[in-house]
Amino acid sequence: DPEGLLARQAARESSARSYARHLPVVPVRAEGMLVHGADGRTYLDCLSGAGSLALGHNHPVVVEAVRKVLDAGAPMHVLDLATPIKDEFTETLLGLLPGELARDARMHFCGPSGADAVEAAIKLARIATGRSGLVAFTGAYHGMTAAALAATGNVSARTPARVPDAGVTRLPFPQDYRCPYGIGGIAGERIAVEHVRRLFDDPGSGMTPPAAVIVEPVQGEGGVIPAPDGWLRSLSALAAAYDMPMIADEVQTGLGRTGELWGVDHAGVVPDMMVLSKAIGGGLPLAVIVYRAKYDVWQEGAHTGTFRGHQLAMAAGTATMRFVAEHSLAEQSRKLGDKLRSEFEEAMAELPAIGDVRGRGLMIGLDLVDAGSAADVLGARPAAPGLARRVRAEALRRGLIVELGGRHGAVLRLLPPLTMTELEAEQVRDLVLDSIAAASA
Ligand code: PMP
Repeated sequence: DPEGLLARQAARESSARSYARHLPVVPVRAEGMLVHGADGRTYLDCLSGAGSLALGHNHPVVVEAVRKVLDAGAPMHVLDLATPIKDEFTETLLGLLPGELARDARMHFCGPSGADAVEAAIKLARIATGRSGLVAFTGAYHGMTAAALAATGNVSARTPARVPDAGVTRLPFPQDYRCPYGIGGIAGERIAVEHVRRLFDDPGSGMTPPAAVIVEPVQGEGGVIPAPDGWLRSLSALAAAYDMPMIADEVQTGLGRTGELWGVDHAGVVPDMMVLSKAIGGGLPLAVIVYRAKYDVWQEGAHTGTFRGHQLAMAAGTATMRFVAEHSLAEQSRKLGDKLRSEFEEAMAELPAIGDVRGRGLMIGLDLVDAGSAADVLGARPAAPGLARRVRAEALRRGLIVELGGRHGAVLRLLPPLTMTELEAEQVRDLVLDSIAAASA
């Protein structure tokens, strides 16, 4: 009885549960992009475990890898002891890292959430530099634990929890400019970076370089906003000039999601530290940080935790990483994503509720706006969160699972598996456009 189960969990579970409120589905079986509900219906899944299922649900190579560990009677969890399974995971991941990191990186296994890995990266940067400040960005999402939340841009998540964020310098993420002009020959999007450089250089400013700068190559929860390549490069140059490690939070963008293996690859930037989770565990809980060897300055036991590098997750992750690399799924993600985005852009003429189409690869966001309101000076119309919620409900009725994000909760976010077929992509496109048309009618 799916209705009874939904009601029981709503009564028993924490009031903080979120997805379940808006997606009243009781998944009982799944394969690839398809989720079968206890109600007998089948759904196309564009949420993919919040982007953690790069190969979709129960991909044969992942199932086989997990089964192999179990059948071999390998230990299920051994803390951070050395094992052949960990060795394979480490070698596979380090071999796929960008630029110098591929030759020179160290890896630290973190608690299984992305948030814990963010904590670890910030902590390591503080230990390594002896400084405590942090530069983070408006609209950023880094997780729900203390330091990660302090770096997160969303005030409504931070304020009630009284999370201390003194020491976090929050700079505007380029989307906040939409400024095509620039000052003194500096492009609009780079002005904030240049501003910080001048503050660091001005002894009277009192501003000194912080311990680190943390950035998402494409903001996900913040509304699917790609960092402009030139901006990311100037940020990286600033970080290098002031010996301030650049932490790329690739929890969501990593492993082919954006149409390159890593989100930073679009700009050709090699960060000092990368935070990885979601896809690299093949759908099982796993998170790591990787960083240049010169930052390996932990004291023994400095960032411990019980569940670090779980054997089943490492085996699933190795199988996933190999499959992504061997089947060029980053490229496939780019091709399918480019096609979908251009089709959504074409539909904007018919559907004025789509205010903007953004993303990279199969990380796609559609701004839903109030088509009846006047545009501001930069051409943007007001966000329409109510409409976005109706679109999500219409989509579910039609058999499509999608979530929302963005500053106003008005960005429809698509995170399908990288293994999505062209036919499935066409179905997603039609379902999304039909849902927007129905909800805005
Ligand atoms: N960083 C980014 C960029 C994320 O998208 C997320 C999760 N959406 C996190 C960190 C936090 O990861 P977790 O939910 O596993 O703690």
